[in-house]
Amino acid sequence: MRFWIHTYGCQMNVRDSEAVEALMVAAGHVKATGEADAEVVIVNSCTVRQKAEEKAVGKAGNLVAEGKIVGMMGCAVKRLGEEVFRRVPGLSFAVGPRCFGLVPKIVAEIAARGAGSARILETGGDEVPEGLSAHPDSARAGSFAAVQSYVTVMVGCDNCCSYCIVPKVRGHEWCRPPDEIVAEVRCLAERGVKEVCLLGQSVLRYRGKDGFTFPMLLRRLQAIDGLERIRFTSAHPGGCTEELVAALRDCGKVCRHIHLPVQSGSDRILRDMGRRYTRDEYLSAVARLRDFDPEFAVTTDVIVGYPGETEEDFQATRSLMEEAGFDNSFVFKYSPRPGTRAAAMEDDVPAAEKERRNQVLLADQETRGLARNGGLVGTVREVMVEGPSKRNKERLSGRDSGNRIVVWDASHGAAAVGSLVRIRILEAHPQILVGEPVD
Ligand code: SAH
Ligand code: SF4
Repeated sequence: MRFWIHTYGCQMNVRDSEAVEALMVAAGHVKATGEADAEVVIVNSCTVRQKAEEKAVGKAGNLVAEGKIVGMMGCAVKRLGEEVFRRVPGLSFAVGPRCFGLVPKIVAEIAARGAGSARILETGGDEVPEGLSAHPDSARAGSFAAVQSYVTVMVGCDNCCSYCIVPKVRGHEWCRPPDEIVAEVRCLAERGVKEVCLLGQSVLRYRGKDGFTFPMLLRRLQAIDGLERIRFTSAHPGGCTEELVAALRDCGKVCRHIHLPVQSGSDRILRDMGRRYTRDEYLSAVARLRDFDPEFAVTTDVIVGYPGETEEDFQATRSLMEEAGFDNSFVFKYSPRPGTRAAAMEDDVPAAEKERRNQVLLADQETRGLARNGGLVGTVREVMVEGPSKRNKERLSGRDSGNRIVVWDASHGAAAVGSLVRIRILEAHPQILVGEPVD
């Protein structure tokens, strides 16, 4: 059947959608040119906040109303179970985040039996997903997607942060064997991939057999010919060890950026959340990376309006963010998720106050981002070319090792997507650096 996949949520979901695309094509289905042209549309859903779930459910409902055959996959399916069919009347099938490998077979069944066939639900449990290493062919040649790939190194999550639904929907942690990951990345590099981003809910916890660690994995990937850059996400400060820093020092392909969600700067809230670090421990982890490289980019996630968060707790978050000198941050308003520990507590910070705290942190980040980027004016950054800038087609855009967006005038000449160019920074903005190529 002619299919289209619509993805919500994090990089994990983006990666799972890509795997499904590859599995579908391998099974003889055809990727549509867009949603309008598709016979069957699969909505890959997120449930990390209530709004995310509502978006995916709403989208699936609209597609049914348009007369499409609609399936859902991902985290909201696992949370909702049977209820997903009540929320999306007319939905044909739904699979959980660890059984996306079933999608091609289900679609084939529906094609054979007709759209009116019985609805199919597989929420799954802790199984190892099928098709973890399936990648679409370079059908997108010439685009950045052809030279950049996500690679799943582990699935599930064994942390138990009080607010988070992820462990409930993505199941227990399971790490892929190192040889399998190395083989996948080698194969991608042979196909022209220049940058991989290793994915896991908490990648620094990655473990193989016989004490094999994440830094060891970085060392093995460093040796792959053709590969230029290695990124990873997300990280926990507990994994920012001397062993990691030593691997960073030896592995020039590993990018100088870490996404290190802090969630709060208040020790009381951190303890309640079950984050397993204090404010000081978090700041020490950042310091270890910045001692190694003062330009090391650190980005974070923060939750505002967690149950019981006082003005004092909030101010502690503000001051931590300043002390850590985050290069970028993503701020989320607390959203109670059914079945989590925090959901048993009263969601007592009013919506308007959550919004105010959100705006304060965003404004702080604008100022801080501008100051941090300002410090880079005059430096020369090595930038991987991504293509024309989305905002201004007369500019080319790419990212430096710290994941900072760098743009420059296209009139300086063409640059191949995926190539590395040297750009001198002339101008800093809170979210973007503007420069010119140097020879
Ligand atoms: N596995 C990642 C986080 C995945 S969820 C990690 O542990 O680092 C991405 C982000 O969503 C989290 O970092 C957190 O800031 C936010 N988040 C998670 N649950 C939330 C909730 N119930 N309400 C608001 N934000 C939440
Ligand atoms: Fe959303 Fe979390 Fe699932 Fe990613 S893992 S799609 S953030 S619920």
